[in-house]
Amino acid sequence: MQYEAVIGLEVHAQLLTHSKIFCGCANQFGSPPNTNVCPVCLGMPGTLPVLNRKVVEFSIRAGLATHCAIAPKSVWARKNYFYPDLPKNYQISQYELPLCTGGYLDIEVEGQTRRIGITRIHMEEDAGKLIHDPAQPVSYVDLNRTGTPLMEIVSEPDLRTPEEAAAYLKALRDILVYLEICDGNMEEGSFRCDANISLRPVGQAEFGTRAELKNMNSFRNVQKALEYEIRRQRAVLDDGGSVIQETRLWDAGANKTLSMRGKEEAHDYRYFPDPDLLPLIVEPAWVEEIRAGLPELPDKKRRRFEEQYGLPAYDAGVLTMSRPLADYFEAVASACGAPKAASNWIMSELMGALNAEGKEITASPIAAGQLAELIRMVESGELSGKLAKQVFAEMMASGQDPGAVVAAKGLKQVSDEGPLRELLQKIFAANPGQVEQYKAGKDKLLGFFVGQVMKETKGQANPQVLNDLVKKMLSE
Ligand code: ADP
Ligand code: MG
Ligand code: ZN
Repeated sequence: MQYEAVIGLEVHAQLLTHSKIFCGCANQFGSPPNTNVCPVCLGMPGTLPVLNRKVVEFSIRAGLATHCAIAPKSVWARKNYFYPDLPKNYQISQYELPLCTGGYLDIEVEGQTRRIGITRIHMEEDAGKLIHDPAQPVSYVDLNRTGTPLMEIVSEPDLRTPEEAAAYLKALRDILVYLEICDGNMEEGSFRCDANISLRPVGQAEFGTRAELKNMNSFRNVQKALEYEIRRQRAVLDDGGSVIQETRLWDAGANKTLSMRGKEEAHDYRYFPDPDLLPLIVEPAWVEEIRAGLPELPDKKRRRFEEQYGLPAYDAGVLTMSRPLADYFEAVASACGAPKAASNWIMSELMGALNAEGKEITASPIAAGQLAELIRMVESGELSGKLAKQVFAEMMASGQDPGAVVAAKGLKQVSDEGPLRELLQKIFAANPGQVEQYKAGKDKLLGFFVGQVMKETKGQANPQVLNDLVKKMLSE
């Protein structure tokens, strides 16, 4: 039997607001335990939540960027459950009336574009964290994270392969990072994903029974967990069994998913509208203001780079991976007027050197204007490609302008015929045999003369000028 996978993803993204969603505590990762807390986020009786307007603004940004409708009225709901990291015993979330609905995201897998539906985006608060001490039979509770603003982004079951799921996640993360509303760090948990997956016989319209996978903290692990789950469910079905609806945990060490809880143990959260919070009314004018302030998104920027700068799709994809990188490229390209050369220098030399030092583009020792100047010197023939690389290494180490490096190191390319002619005359005089052979038709000796000059000038002779000059002088 041939099966097709059906996958839907639930993403939780922490928002980069300064303060928490319902109180003024700092929204900060890595503080000492229980230092970013107050009576509100500690769930003390008698306290009241006050909504952080930025959380709504950020979520509207996400909704607009993913083509969702923004609800003029949405409602906060209590999701009730007990756990030691949840002091109120309920999480404030949105349920029946979420902020954003009915959007989509286009992804590209193996040259094919597919449109993946986004069911909804709602806002909620994060819970705290339990830290289990392996050395002692105790657990610690850190409530710094309670009240951290989250968006939950739920996709339609439109994904069909683990590759598509990974592509969707990457595209979604890139958008949130571009919008500057989430740092997208899967390892630190600021961008988390639960994956729902079922199989159905190819050609069947109804979906099969799904498993929900948790605990994947990288794109790679999401893909691996889904691949494992496809094999597992296929084996169950081929055996004549049926998949049971359950939550399974990905075990990255063992490379498999393990059952965590079945449907019978699934929570009944007893959602109801939160009586402490008014329904959220969003004025259309505010939505339009936010829409007008949206940055150019990765997809659009990539296409523009291909068209405006004539870059290959690959270059455009790499250069638009982050906004600062794209901005850097544009600054270099417009200052030097040679976009493809700018792309080559950034993708190979600069990104290579930055990676080696573990630096981001924002910490580049070489400013965009300096790299543009270096490229301009190559384009005009002042520097050969080889010398330019030496100058680049020096700029990387010292942050100096290319002109200063050239002057200090005497690296300028010799393009004047005068000194090259003088040098060649000496070389011809010292090698009369080779001159004779060349004149007798042994063209290959051109390389010998060029090599001699390069040796004398430490590679600073302009190769084009030199080649032409050798030919000209020996035919005189
Ligand atoms: P829950 O609240 O139990 O997680 P939802 O209805 O919100 O359930 O669905 C969660 C996710 O599961 C969505 O992303 C949806 O696309 C996906 N999903 C729903 N049914 C299936 C299915 N049969 N197979 C795979 N994914 C599914
Ligand atoms: Mg779910
Ligand atoms: Zn607080």
